[in-house]
Amino acid sequence: MSIIHKEGLEKQFIFNLKECNTTGFNDPLNEDVYSPSKGLIHRYPDRVLLTITNRCFAYCRFCFRKKNWSHFPGFDLSGAVKYISDHKEIREVLISGGDPFTLNIKHLESILKNIRNIKHIEVIRIGTRVLTSNPITVTHDYVGIIKNYKPIWIVAHINHPDEITPEFADAAEKIVNSGIPILSQTVLLNGINNDKKTLKRLFCKLAGMGIKPYYLFGCDQAVGNRHFRVSIDEALEIMRSLRCNISGICMPAFAFDLPNGGGKVVLEPETIVSRQNGRYILKNFEGRRYIYEDV
Ligand code: SF4
Repeated sequence: MSIIHKEGLEKQFIFNLKECNTTGFNDPLNEDVYSPSKGLIHRYPDRVLLTITNRCFAYCRFCFRKKNWSHFPGFDLSGAVKYISDHKEIREVLISGGDPFTLNIKHLESILKNIRNIKHIEVIRIGTRVLTSNPITVTHDYVGIIKNYKPIWIVAHINHPDEITPEFADAAEKIVNSGIPILSQTVLLNGINNDKKTLKRLFCKLAGMGIKPYYLFGCDQAVGNRHFRVSIDEALEIMRSLRCNISGICMPAFAFDLPNGGGKVVLEPETIVSRQNGRYILKNFEGRRYIYEDV
C-alpha cells in the first residue's frame, strides 16, 4: 500500500478542521419526516429502511447519518413489524444503521426472524461496512445463521481498492459460498477515490470476487461534508471513462440523494445526441456518433 493511498484511506476516518464548515444539512435525506416508527424510514413505495443501531466498526467522517452518533432515536422492533405488516405494498426491507453486524448474532437473528415472518416480504438487504472494518466478525457460524433467512442480499460499503484485505476476501468468500449475493456501494470522495484508475481497480477487484458493484454514490450534503464532495461534472467524466474501460458487470450506477427528501436520482453520461421522428444520433463509448433508426 503506498503512503498516498494510506493517507487517502485515513482521511475517511480522521477528523479534519474543514468539517467545521457548517454548510449542509443535519438530516440531508429528511429521514425524520419519513419515519412512522422509531428506526423505520419509509420513503419509496415498495421498501423500507430499518436503522437498527447507531454503532459502527469505524466512523466515517462523511456519514450522512452522523447526527445519529449522538442523538439516536432508537429502534422499535415491534413498531416496525406492525407497520410493515399493515403495509402490504412493502416487499423489501433494508436493514442498516449504523452497522447491523455490530449486533450480537442472537439480537440480529431475532430481527431477521421477525421480518422474515411477514408473509409479503420478499427480500431482505443488509447494509454493512463489516467486510472492510471488522471482517473477522464474519465467521462460518455467523453466516450459517443469517443464511436461514434468505433471500438476503448483503450490500457492502467500500470506497477504495486498498480496503480489500485478505481478511475481506476470506469473509466475502464465506458469504458468497453460502448463497448470499453481495453488492457493493461506494461513496465518491474528494482526495480519496475520485480518480478513474482507483475506481477501476476497486470495481474490477470486487467483480473478480463475485461482488457486483452496485452504486457509486455522490457524497451527501451533510454538515461538515463539503470538502469530501465531488462535482457532478467530474463524477460523470469518471463514469464515462469507466464505461470505456470496464465491462458491465464491473460498472456501478452513479446516483445521489436529492436534499429535502427528494429521493435517489441516477445519472448517466449523455449518450443521446439528438432524436427526431424515430431517428436517433447516439454517442458510443469512444465518443463517436452513430445514426440509429428506431422501430
Ligand atoms: S459505516 Fe455507514 S453508518 Fe457507519 S459511520 Fe460509516 S457511513 Fe455511517
